[in-house]
Amino acid sequence: MDGCIFCKIAAGEIPSATVYEDEDLRVIADISPANLGHLLIIPKEHAADLTELPAETACKVMLTAKRVVAAMKKGLCPDGVNVLQNNGEAAGQTVMHYHMHIIPRYRGDQVKIGWEPMQGQPEAVAGAAEKVKKALEETDERP
Ligand code: AMP
Ligand code: ZN
Repeated sequence: MDGCIFCKIAAGEIPSATVYEDEDLRVIADISPANLGHLLIIPKEHAADLTELPAETACKVMLTAKRVVAAMKKGLCPDGVNVLQNNGEAAGQTVMHYHMHIIPRYRGDQVKIGWEPMQGQPEAVAGAAEKVKKALEETDERP
């Protein structure tokens, strides 16, 4: 997509520290990493977020994440790894081209990923789950 920086990076038009590339995606070092070794999996075809990502690409991204996490464990020996991605500005997405973060973690590191758990609202929890369940039942899309 015109003007999309990740389209340009994925296509190789803007240089990046690439650790893996194939016909569908590119894996690069995040330019402002949460920890050293923080990588991004970027599909070559533009999709703003997970809902726009074709199912085959979503599968490929996840299979690549599995490989990259294994390689990260071998290469960097982290104590843990976060695999995450943000959908929408309210969820922290700043680049509106789908990407998955792979972040190596070390005990006592300063990376902050988290939330304050909500307490004591069992009916609201069940109610919100029910709304998603109903919406799921209304679509016949299956993985
Ligand atoms: P998100 O907040 O999930 O949209 O993540 C966007 C990520 O892209 C951030 O972690 C940025 O540091 C990273 N980023 C932005 N521009 C570049 C770039 N030119 N090369 C590599 N990473 C980038
Ligand atoms: Zn794009």
